[in-house]
Amino acid sequence: SAAPVFTPALTPQEGARAASALFREAFDAEPDGVWCAPGRVNIIGEHTDYNGGLALPIALPHRAYLALRRREDRTVRLVSSLTPQSIDTLDLDVIGPKGTPGEVRHWNAYIAGVAWALERDGLGPLSGFDAALVSCVPLGGGLSSSAALESATAVALDDVDALGLAGPAEAPDDAGRARLVTSCVRAENEVAGAPTGGMDQSASLRCRAGHALELDCRTGEVEQVPFDLSAAGLALLVIDTKAEHSLVDGQYGARRAACEKAARMLGVDLLADIAPDDLETHLSRLAEPAGPTGHGEAEADADELVKRTRHVVTEIDRTRRLVALLRDSRPLAGPKLEEVGALMNASHDSLRDDYECSCPELDMAVAAARKAGAHGARMTGGGFGGSAIALVDADSADAVARAVVVAYAEADFTAPAFLNAIPSAPAGRLS
Ligand code: ADP
Ligand code: MG
Repeated sequence: SAAPVFTPALTPQEGARAASALFREAFDAEPDGVWCAPGRVNIIGEHTDYNGGLALPIALPHRAYLALRRREDRTVRLVSSLTPQSIDTLDLDVIGPKGTPGEVRHWNAYIAGVAWALERDGLGPLSGFDAALVSCVPLGGGLSSSAALESATAVALDDVDALGLAGPAEAPDDAGRARLVTSCVRAENEVAGAPTGGMDQSASLRCRAGHALELDCRTGEVEQVPFDLSAAGLALLVIDTKAEHSLVDGQYGARRAACEKAARMLGVDLLADIAPDDLETHLSRLAEPAGPTGHGEAEADADELVKRTRHVVTEIDRTRRLVALLRDSRPLAGPKLEEVGALMNASHDSLRDDYECSCPELDMAVAAARKAGAHGARMTGGGFGGSAIALVDADSADAVARAVVVAYAEADFTAPAFLNAIPSAPAGRLS
């Protein structure tokens, strides 16, 4: 069967050159500079962000590149390499949230929306700008191509409008970047209308090369966790299943609603407030029949809340344990590597069985990768499609990818795509 197809990352030089060329073509002028921001992949800690828990993303070498030039008026003109013939023109005095007359169409929302949100967050008024976008983050693959657009815009506007928040990529100002994250989340939630937590934007703006980002989603506090895969002879294989399942948006909302309901019934603000040692006590309280006995609907509902709560509380605990493992001074090999892999595996099984947000393509990618020798494999991102990750020996990445390709072909699934997730630098200016 066919060889695995890897999606290469543009080098920063290639990205800068391509974005600048598109800018010149579209606007017949030189950009002030090129800024870029990475997509992300989450190692562990899934569906924990909106429950106030922990997540552990890394920044990808796959990035969005934005060539941008400040304007003296309030006009915004945007072009993407995906549609190089069409230049969209917007007005910062007109744009607004989704559902209002100033609603911003399609991908423009992720860029112009950031300008709107920065102003809403008290950082304006900003000047208008022209911008050209080239991105090698796969779209809709669960790798946060959307947050890459927002974060690239945030660091670009921070720079040309002299907000002084981001600092350079080599010496980032983390507190300032946390403020930019807030505005990017606001853009995604209010202007693009996607109800996501802050993990994606935090990863894109606050990760460091060679590290994973321990993100406390309740406080917004972060810690850098050493995660130098190549030094350990390892690779993190991302498997883009190419699967798209309908009802994704509804399912995401339903999961959030179930978590809120469970927290309310248990008298906690957020499910992250439940200590792992107290989990069983809390679960038996959720399982108590509240309504009339033998009411099938209430029982099904109780069962659902038990499973969702069990996933969230155990997932936060697994994340804590994986972080502790990465922090200890032993090399990432032997029993330590086995433990890391086992935590990733347990995360997948919990997402599949308790959170019920996996799908046949994700389950198959994970099973095939494990069988082909991955130390651990799991779905990553929101689920119902998107991507899986496998922690593998660097020299067996290709064999594991092949095994997934073969399994997909046998099942008659669309061929997957792969990428090599090297923990990379955060958003910043290039030239
Ligand atoms: P994900 O963030 O997981 O990739 P989303 O649905 O959140 O998926 O974001 C994908 C959207 O981001 C696309 O539908 C498109 O609107 C926008 N987008 C990402 N990259 C580009 C690009 N290079 N050009 C135009 N739009 C893009
Ligand atoms: Mg997204």
